[in-house]
Amino acid sequence: MTPLIELSAIKKRYGGGDRPEVEVLHGIDLAIYSGEFVAIVGTSGSGKSTLMNLIGCLDYPSAGCYRFAGQDVAGFAADQLAWLRREAFGFVFQGYHLIASETARENVEVPALYAGLPEAERRTRAAALLERLGLGSHLDNRPNQLSGGQQQRVSIARALMNGGRIILADEPTGALDSRSGAEVMTLLRELASAGHTVILITHDREVAAQAERVVEIHDGRIIRDSGPTSPPTALPLPVLDATRESTASLRDELGEAIRTAWRAMRVNRGRTGLTLLGIVIGVASVILMLAIGEGARQRVIEQMGSMGTTIMYLGSKAPDTGGPVGMITDDDLAAVQKLPEVHRIMPVIGDPTLVRHGNVERTIYVFAGGETMPEIFRWPVAHGRFFTPRENNGLAPVVVVGNKAYQHFFPGADNPLGRHLLIGNAPFEVIGVMSGRGTDGWGQNYDDMVFIPYRAGRARVYRTQTQPDYTVIDVVSPAVVDEAEAAVGSLLIERHGRLDFAIGNAAAKIKAEMQTRDAMTMMLSLIAAVSLVVGGIGVMNVMLMTVRERTREIGIRMATGARQRDIQRQFLSEAVLIALTGGLIGVASGLGIGFALLLWNIPVVFSLTAIVGAFTCAIATGLVFGWLPARQAARLDPVVALAGE
Ligand code: ADP
Ligand code: MG
Repeated sequence: MTPLIELSAIKKRYGGGDRPEVEVLHGIDLAIYSGEFVAIVGTSGSGKSTLMNLIGCLDYPSAGCYRFAGQDVAGFAADQLAWLRREAFGFVFQGYHLIASETARENVEVPALYAGLPEAERRTRAAALLERLGLGSHLDNRPNQLSGGQQQRVSIARALMNGGRIILADEPTGALDSRSGAEVMTLLRELASAGHTVILITHDREVAAQAERVVEIHDGRIIRDSGPTSPPTALPLPVLDATRESTASLRDELGEAIRTAWRAMRVNRGRTGLTLLGIVIGVASVILMLAIGEGARQRVIEQMGSMGTTIMYLGSKAPDTGGPVGMITDDDLAAVQKLPEVHRIMPVIGDPTLVRHGNVERTIYVFAGGETMPEIFRWPVAHGRFFTPRENNGLAPVVVVGNKAYQHFFPGADNPLGRHLLIGNAPFEVIGVMSGRGTDGWGQNYDDMVFIPYRAGRARVYRTQTQPDYTVIDVVSPAVVDEAEAAVGSLLIERHGRLDFAIGNAAAKIKAEMQTRDAMTMMLSLIAAVSLVVGGIGVMNVMLMTVRERTREIGIRMATGARQRDIQRQFLSEAVLIALTGGLIGVASGLGIGFALLLWNIPVVFSLTAIVGAFTCAIATGLVFGWLPARQAARLDPVVALAGE
């Protein structure tokens, strides 16, 4: 018959490297058969725990061969060893090794979690086991609310959770009073007679005597062995297929990781809160900076760019070298109009002029321009219509009044259309009213003006005027404003032979203004992004601390069968959960502060891209900065981790 556990010439050395090497086990030969109840007895320091850790696959031997059900364990990968711990072994430790933050029932559930048992089954089974061990009324107690004996019974229930074919108990009664100790021993005896293989480690000969077989160890050598027994019953072993994966669905595993993570976060509320704050500030400031930047940008467009980001002004002036003021002729304008960069032009004459209606008399600005004015200035007519090219060419005496001018000349009248205004000495028929516009970024109030066709203006109002006051040039696109300025400049220099004109490039000014704003926004967003990274470093910091504090918990989880992947996933979930929570609060506070600013009349324009981007960055931060601590946790050695704290 193949022994269940077969150790041959097993040696274990500690130290090495810069520390002195000590050999603790000097060649152990031991065969244990399925269903046996074996006590390994020896004085303190004789190597019992070391031996148990080797048998339980928590540690590996320095030399020798360990066969489990005939298979050499040396060839098993970390995850396969985890499988063995999960499916075959159940550990009971002197110090109970329960997870302090979880209830009795949850502690018992842990091994099943890694075996992939569905939650409902897990809960029922854990409760049933605790019930059987007399802890039915303590399911929801945490370890610190239980006595030593009760805690040890919880840990026995945990050992049985996945079947516990082989119970490895290291000094299970060591920390207990004699009555609780006796109870635990009774339990172990019952389990042994039910077919569990029980390996009990103790320094107490009386305790050892309760087992059916006693192996005595002294200074790392077996000095006595009462010999194998042939137990009447033995539980069948699970099919030893170490390549088998856990059957748990990814959703279950993730759900569990998130639940555990959430609990861990709640336990350390203060610390978690502070870490969150870093992410919150990062996310909120990225969102806010971009929103404020965009708000400012749009206000610039609104104020200065309402006339379009494609507009330039052309006027004549006296050349710097002396001589008469230049003259922009109709031929000049026709040539400018032909430039490929130019979309349309509009000569304008405008001066404060006396305007009368009935007995209302007022000096206002009379704007004589082209029929394209509403399009060029992106300014619609509210009532009636604007004049047509034909009316312009035909010197038609028609006028469109600004909103304020309308209220001034026709107070209370709902329909001014068809009435007449006397501009200078010429009567003009009102054909439309402009919509309200307000003061623009250049300080002009266009509402308090009236608009007449350019030609009619020259013929009937501005008769002494020999050329337009200025000409609006609307170029084909914002991208060509600089080229257009250069083209118009060189064309007119060619025609005039001197620089007797000036071009005011409104579009370029707007562009420059926007570029400054964009640079500011960029810089502030960069600072905000840096604060997000700082938040991420905070997450990493707190995760590293968590891993250190919870080393023993990690050890317990590994001893009960968690794979490296499970541990990694758990800690990564915690980091991501912190980042996610921080990201959500950050988005909320960014929006909240933004709306508050809006109430204060500070322009804020939220960008969905910025919000989604900042949130995604927060999560990515959690993943990136949580990865290292999670990996560190996953790579811990089970024995080292168990001995932690
Ligand atoms: P027991 O459980 O029988 O009391 P242990 O197996 O815990 O004994 O320890 C056996 C010997 O190995 C002791 O002398 C102990 O100091 C030593 N030892 C145990 N673990 C380590 C370790 N990680 N590094 C160095 N020495 C160790
Ligand atoms: Mg020990």
